[in-house]
This record gives sequence, C-alpha cells and structure tokens, in this order.
Amino acid sequence: TLLKQRIQKMGDVVFQMDLESAVRYSLKLEIANIKIIQDEQLKALVAYLGVVEKYFPFGHNASSFLKELIDFTHNVGQIEGWKIGEIVKRAEENRVFSSPQRFLACEGSLSRYRGYPCSLWKLFHYLTVNAVQEENPKEILDVMHGYVKFFFACAVCSQHFQEMAARRNMSDVASLDSAILWLWEAHNEVNERLAGDLTEDPEFPKRQFPTNEACPRCVNLDNSWNSEEVLKYLKNMYGSFNVRYIGSD
Ligand code: FAD
Repeated sequence: TLLKQRIQKMGDVVFQMDLESAVRYSLKLEIANIKIIQDEQLKALVAYLGVVEKYFPFGHNASSFLKELIDFTHNVGQIEGWKIGEIVKRAEENRVFSSPQRFLACEGSLSRYRGYPCSLWKLFHYLTVNAVQEENPKEILDVMHGYVKFFFACAVCSQHFQEMAARRNMSDVASLDSAILWLWEAHNEVNERLAGDLTEDPEFPKRQFPTNEACPRCVNLDNSWNSEEVLKYLKNMYGSFNVRYIGSD
C-alpha cells in the first residue's frame, strides 16, 4: 500500500513495468491463443512486432528476443499462435524483461478492474509519442487498429474502436502530432462513454484527460481544450525519457 500511495502521488507517469506487461500479455494471452494466424491477421501481427521493435523501450538484452519473434513471423504463410507464447516464455526464463509481469500504475483496486486494457492504451499512447516516421504519420494508429481488430479479446471494445476510427476519420491523420492528438481524443471519448459504467474502478473514476489539476493550461478560458498544451503534456508524459522504473522517482 505504501508503494500504491507513492505511485498515485506521482500522478500521470508511465512505468516500464506497465508497458512491458502490455506487450507480454498481448503476446502470451491474446496472440498465443489463436490457433492459426494467417492473411490479414498475420499482416497485423507483423506490423505490431515491427513497431515494438522500432520504438519500444526494451533493454538491450531484448533485441535477440524481438529478432526471434520477427524472424519467426516473416515471409511465412501462416503460424501457430502458441509458438509465439513459447518464444516469450523462453525470453522470460532468460530474464529479458526488467520486472515480473505485473501492473503498477495500471493495477486496479480489485483484479477485475484495469490491468491489461489500461496498459494497452498506455502502450499505444507511448508509441504515438515516440514514433518518428514522418512519411507515414498514421503508422502507429494503423497498427493499433489492426491489433484491436484482430487480437484484442474484448469484442465490444474492438467493435467500438473500429467504429470510432471510421467516424473520426482516422485515415485522414496527416502528421505525427495529429496522430498523438487523434488517439488522445478517441480515448477521451471512451472515457466519457464509460464514466459511471459497471466496469469502472471506483478508486479510478473515468475523467476527461488530463485533469484540470494535472494540467490547468490544457483548458482555455471558454472550457475548450488547448490542443497545443495538451500535445506538450502528452509528449512529456509519454516521452521515452520520462518512462520510470520502479524505484526511480
Ligand atoms: P484507461 O482508460 O484504461 O486509461 C489508462 C491510463 O491512460 C489512465 O490511467 C491515464 O493515465 C491515461 N489516459 C486516460 N485517458 C487518456 C487520454 N485521453 N489520453 C492519453 N492518456 C490517457 N471498455 C469497455 O467497457 N467498453 C469499451 O468499449 C472499451 N473499449 C476499449 C477500446 C480500447 C482500444 C481499449 C484499449 C480499451 C477499451 N476498453 C473498453 C477498456 C477501457 O477503456 C479501460 O481501459 C478500462 O476500463 C480500464 O480503465 P482505467 O481506469 O485503467 O483507464
């Protein structure tokens, strides 16, 4: 509980443990559960692994683990999902990850709350903020769309997200900054829809993000968002230089 209190006091920070747990969970518990992965689903997996390799803040010893995953999925017609799970388990035995698979800032007050979905949002916000491919500013949003469509086990969430991507013209996003803001707005729409829902953790009520206390400048006098300030806030919070390890302040 002391740790919990300390984490809550830190406010909007991103922990390596939550990001790593998102990737591990997605590989071991979503992708590994699919019997045969092929066609569009395989493309979505290859694209997902590609951005994780490019932008994820894994330590040095994870590079061979990622290479193994990428080699395994490249230029093949189909793969068996469980084999992905095996590769991750072997990496765990070789201590590739920096921590046990647990959630830290994403831990709910009860195990049915928060956890993986929270970490998945953080993972994709992190990726939008740290992506650098100017020629393809939608790179991360497309990967997220593919991941959520083909692998995210929450079917309702997946449908909502796909519907939102179409309605909010995700495919028109034309710069890296707009991609960061697109995901922020989309996430706020979800927060609004789920406020007061049964799935809401009473200790972490859904609010519009960032809160006024966390970023007073993010809201204009007329109550509209100041997107320049929001962008700064997101870049600071999700910037790779600001990812915290447990124990670091
Ligand atoms: P989350 O909403 O998971 O947010 C995680 C963290 O991200 C927050 O603690 C905060 O630090 C940060 N954050 C919050 N808002 C923003 C923002 N706007 N921009 C940047 N950072 C932010 N659940 C359903 O019941 N129905 C659904 O339809 C549904 N759709 C989903 C779609 C997707 C793509 C995902 C990933 C999840 C979805 N979920 C859905 C789960 C739901 O959105 C939450 O993840 C879950 O309820 C846990 O909520 P949480 O309180 O941990 O905060």
